[in-house]
Amino acid sequence: VRLERADGEWERVEVTGTDLTDHPDVGGLVISVRSANYENELERSMDRTESLSSAVVSALRDGIVATDEFGSITTVNEAARMMFGIDADTPVTELTIDDFALLDPSGRRVVIDPDPLSPTHNVGPRTSNACVIARHGDLRYVSLDRSPVHDSADALVGSVLVFHDLTAEREAEAELRSQALHDQLTGLANRRQLEQRIAEIAAAGTRTLSAAIFIDLDGFKLVNDTHGHRIGDQLIRIAAKRLRGQLRPSDLLVRQGGDEFVVLQASVESIAAAEATAERLRSALAEPYDIHDQRFDLTASLGVAVANSDDLSDEVVLQHADIALYAAKARGRDRVEIFNSDLAAAVQLEEHQRRTLRSALENDRLVMHFQPLVETGTGRVQGYEALARVITEDGDLIGPAGFMEAVTSTGLIWDLDRAAFNLSCEAAAVMAELEPENPPTIACNFSSFSITQPAFVSTVTETAERHGVDPGQICIEITESAAFDGGPGSLEALSMLHAVGFGLALDDFGTGYSSLAHLRDLPISTVKVDRSFVSKLGTGNSERAIAEAVVSLAHDLGLGVVAEGVETLEHLENVRQLGFSTVQGWHYAPAMSLTDALAERQAVTNAAVTNVPVSTTPPEAP
Ligand code: C2E
Ligand code: CA
Ligand code: CA
Repeated sequence: VRLERADGEWERVEVTGTDLTDHPDVGGLVISVRSANYENELERSMDRTESLSSAVVSALRDGIVATDEFGSITTVNEAARMMFGIDADTPVTELTIDDFALLDPSGRRVVIDPDPLSPTHNVGPRTSNACVIARHGDLRYVSLDRSPVHDSADALVGSVLVFHDLTAEREAEAELRSQALHDQLTGLANRRQLEQRIAEIAAAGTRTLSAAIFIDLDGFKLVNDTHGHRIGDQLIRIAAKRLRGQLRPSDLLVRQGGDEFVVLQASVESIAAAEATAERLRSALAEPYDIHDQRFDLTASLGVAVANSDDLSDEVVLQHADIALYAAKARGRDRVEIFNSDLAAAVQLEEHQRRTLRSALENDRLVMHFQPLVETGTGRVQGYEALARVITEDGDLIGPAGFMEAVTSTGLIWDLDRAAFNLSCEAAAVMAELEPENPPTIACNFSSFSITQPAFVSTVTETAERHGVDPGQICIEITESAAFDGGPGSLEALSMLHAVGFGLALDDFGTGYSSLAHLRDLPISTVKVDRSFVSKLGTGNSERAIAEAVVSLAHDLGLGVVAEGVETLEHLENVRQLGFSTVQGWHYAPAMSLTDALAERQAVTNAAVTNVPVSTTPPEAP
């Protein structure tokens, strides 16, 4: 405080009060007042430096402990007290270097030698990492830095110990490490951890069998796209939990990303054991998912591969499980496939198919062939089914068997269908130009995948329009599963096309789960009875009875009925007797190029004009 002296001068003083009322000798308060006027400027500046440094020391988050040249503690800041659990009111004089002992990495208590020059540097060199047990018993990680303090004559007068608290950094680091090894959504291990574990198992070199199971949720993408990511994320979390529930603690469960999971079992008894696990996982995932009062039904496809530790290291087992998963998806989903070398060959073949088609689409080597649809009564060719063909790089012409199977559930099939439809409309326009009165219909195939595409309806209508083709000249062929697998969206799309005048044919009827009710419920104009059925239409068998029912119902509903795969005269007789209005098959003609089809039409027209009967010998089957 400042005091005003009697002479009007101001004087800086230090006032200290001490309560000694309980003191037997004093029995009162002692107030001492000391002049704070400095003898000289030096003393004053030293005092300023001192108070500055003491302010800095107390504000530091690092723990600071200073000793004199004999190792007695002279200064302990607040942070050091916190770190070492020393109460604020314990005087410095009561503290010894023992109070600042550290735990070394093996958990031993280590008393620091405060002398930075001491040869016994028992916690490492100048700087070291160690732990301390803090006030509330929690472990803090610290680094220690010891510096000597010299006076102006360079004599050692003490040392300063700086404890830097590394706990937060260490925790952040651990968190980062954990993030690097875990999937954020599910908390499961991630691909990195999978690779690490595989390397560990391989390095251990035990003679046991390991198994990898690849898991993919069927139809997840659709749910995610239509119901949003929140629902999608929930689904993934539930799936992760169900998978975990079916596994042993030692099994590593990994989220690969998206809707893909991997299980790594370090040691399995046999392939059969791994398959049994996969089956359990499959059925756990097939249970309905209830999210926000909505119910979702999903299935999963799984691929299993096993390997001994020798084969593990290059992750071949993962590739194999992936191939098996691929096969499970291609073979209808909701199933488990075990890797074997046949499977690998099949997958290779499919790869080849995809490459063939992709290259054909990119290089205009897709062509359409046209197979006549013949009216049974008149023998007139009322239309054609457009069937896709590919000219390979080697110049060979190949049919769908060489490029379709592998692409039916990929985006490529949509590319194929669009390109095929475009070519088909082009052909339809040519035919309509030649026979404007009553042009032949062109039947175009669309896969179930294509029907679920958001742009399906607009692509069909716009393509027909661009070529100036009347929708009535086009018939879209779809299978029953294509109509129903895609859900209400597909049915709606088909109804829209039907409403604007496109014909719709139910293809391959009689295969799979055919239902007569579908003839009534679907917006179709034609039903095509499958070849496998047509070949069995002898007298008195169930196929015939069913065919009779189909034809009669189709007539009642005003639908056309086409018999597919009519190869022989016998087939033709059978379908005629049954009342099929139209036939298609090698008995009449195989699919042919547009120019061949046009030439044949021309020949028939000319023959009719000159009244020469058309040859009745069927062409040779291809
Ligand atoms: P599909 O729609 O059932 O077409 C009829 C298939 O039967 C054609 O095979 C045709 O060549 C063949 N076929 C015709 N008459 C006979 C016969 O008397 N006997 C026998 N055994 N077979 C006959 P193709 O051209 O190999 O086509 C196979 C399948 O590929 C088609 O079956 C269709 O599902 C699909 N496909 C063809 N083109 C396309 C397309 O552009 N898009 C889509 N999504 N699928 C297509
Ligand atoms: Ca067809
Ligand atoms: Ca068919």
